[in-house]
Amino acid sequence: MSRPAECVECEASVPALPTVMEYEGQEIYLFHPVLCAACLLEMCRRFSVECANCGGAIPPFSQVGVLKAGAGQTRFVHMTAVCSSVGSAFHGYWGKGRLLNYVQVEAC
Ligand SMILES: [Zn+2]
Ligand SMILES: [Zn+2]
Repeated sequence: MSRPAECVECEASVPALPTVMEYEGQEIYLFHPVLCAACLLEMCRRFSVECANCGGAIPPFSQVGVLKAGAGQTRFVHMTAVCSSVGSAFHGYWGKGRLLNYVQVEAC
C-alpha cells in the first residue's frame, strides 16, 4: 500500500502522480520530487534556465543538453531534436537550479 503523496514543499496532499503542468508552452510530467501544481509552478519560476538555442525557458526537473561555452561557462539547451544540436554528447538533469546526474557520453 502506498500512502497518498505529499508535496515536499507545502505538505499538501497530491492526489495523483505525475503532477502535470504546462509552463511556457511545455508540458511537465513530474513524478519526483512530489510537488503540488502550485509549488511546481513556483519552482519553474525560480529555477528555469534559458535555452541557449531557442531562448525559451527550460523548467527544472527535466533533462537538459549541456554546452560548454568556454571560460568555464556552461549553457543549457532543451533535450529536443530542435534544440539539442546533433552530436551533443553531454546531458544532465536540471534540478532545483543546478545540474544533477551529469552524463558525458563517450564520443565515437
Ligand atoms: Zn505544494
Ligand atoms: Zn530550446
